[in-house]
Amino acid sequence: MSTYISRAKWGASPPVKTLPLSTKLKGVCLHWMGFHIEGDSTRLVKSIQRNHMSPPKSWWDLAYNEMIDQDGNVFEGRGLTHRSGAQGGTRNNKAYYALGLMVGPGQPPSDELVAAVRKRIKVIRTMQPSATAVVGHNELKATSCPGPDIERMIRAGMFEPRPVDVPIPDPLPDLGPLKERVEAIEMEVAALYADIEALYEKAGANG
Ligand SMILES: [Zn+2]
Repeated sequence: MSTYISRAKWGASPPVKTLPLSTKLKGVCLHWMGFHIEGDSTRLVKSIQRNHMSPPKSWWDLAYNEMIDQDGNVFEGRGLTHRSGAQGGTRNNKAYYALGLMVGPGQPPSDELVAAVRKRIKVIRTMQPSATAVVGHNELKATSCPGPDIERMIRAGMFEPRPVDVPIPDPLPDLGPLKERVEAIEMEVAALYADIEALYEKAGANG
């Protein structure tokens, strides 16, 4: 079960400083953690924030806009309104929203994680329809991030948002399955609106 976990919910430290998200995003940049991931996701997100904000890095905040675990849980990082710090350099941080996928070497992303990434990309594109790129960190600079599994999945287009995938029976027997399809689409739309509402709420709270 995929959940959106706000900074308040996971107990984030406040950022040292923030910059607004660019209104001219090119798209989303995918990262991995680069080490074997196991154990409680909330504890891990907290420890990664500590690592990013402590010397020698001493960054303003957790570098990613969001982090997503193998269960598809989405942890709010810099969030939908602030610029990333994960891509190494102002130009790339301005141009791409940073998603940190909580996997390491030999840990291919689960179906739940992939589904959550697609959903977040859909949210970004709803905010900024021209932000269509989905790139790996290694496409922006020389790095082993996001690793071979995610690189392959990006090339295969597996993170592209797609319509609700409900099998259509053949022959169509009655209205039962159609009703299920409509319900599935309604749930998808409701989830998307919930995300957008959260964004508006936050924008309002920030003035
Ligand atoms: Zn990276």
